[in-house]
Amino acid sequence: TSTAGGDEKEAVKGYFNTVGFERWNKIYGTTDEISSVQMDIREGHAVTVDKVLKWLSEGAGVKGITVCDAGCGTGSLSIPLALQGAKVYGSDISEAMANEAARRYEVEAKSSKAAEAPKFEAKDLESISGTYHTVCCIDVLIHYPPERMAEMVGHLASLSEKRLILSFAPSTPYYLILKRIGEFFPKGSKATRAYLHKEEDVEAALIKAGFKVTNREMTASKFYFSRLFEAVPAS
Ligand code: SAM
Repeated sequence: TSTAGGDEKEAVKGYFNTVGFERWNKIYGTTDEISSVQMDIREGHAVTVDKVLKWLSEGAGVKGITVCDAGCGTGSLSIPLALQGAKVYGSDISEAMANEAARRYEVEAKSSKAAEAPKFEAKDLESISGTYHTVCCIDVLIHYPPERMAEMVGHLASLSEKRLILSFAPSTPYYLILKRIGEFFPKGSKATRAYLHKEEDVEAALIKAGFKVTNREMTASKFYFSRLFEAVPAS
């Protein structure tokens, strides 16, 4: 049964402050002591992050622009962006994640040239306010049931002045079958529900919010798959 809304959000928050933090902190880290499934997810995710960084580095680049990284996790995207000179605000529903992102920045900034430290904060993305040149939301939509997707996308669009980049696990017949037979998330990691989204639904939500999709990418490996959209205001 679905527990859309508050209860489910609390469950996601609890998970990413405890066992989920342990699991994803390892996946998004450098330790070799992870399973081959986790390694596959680490590598797939790194490809997605690299694609986002490449998009952002094209044209005028990121120096001096404001970026909001909604659901920033351990800072995989926020940290390189800050080191490249962007003014980064990263927030996550999990305090453990936001704290870890700040810790990692301190470690990485030491061996790099001086840059402005990102502001990391524990906050759910529905509570983010203000406006940013670019808003990124990577691999977070998987925690949103379809009935909450459009509202979430609309909110992120309202924060974005020039560009919104988001990724999600696409709902296709093939992935739906994988999910049904339990391969989508390997055994032992099913602590939160995973939601796939139809591409046309996400695109429709962006259009409704006054945006148009200008770039698309897809990263797929055995256990990781993520569709990436870049969208800009339609007018
Ligand atoms: N975006 C990061 C990255 O790509 O490295 C982390 C991705 S991780 C799979 C999903 C993250 O979304 C977790 O850190 C989780 O705590 C966060 N999250 C889930 N629901 C959220 C919400 N409603 N508001 C803010 N963060 C949320």
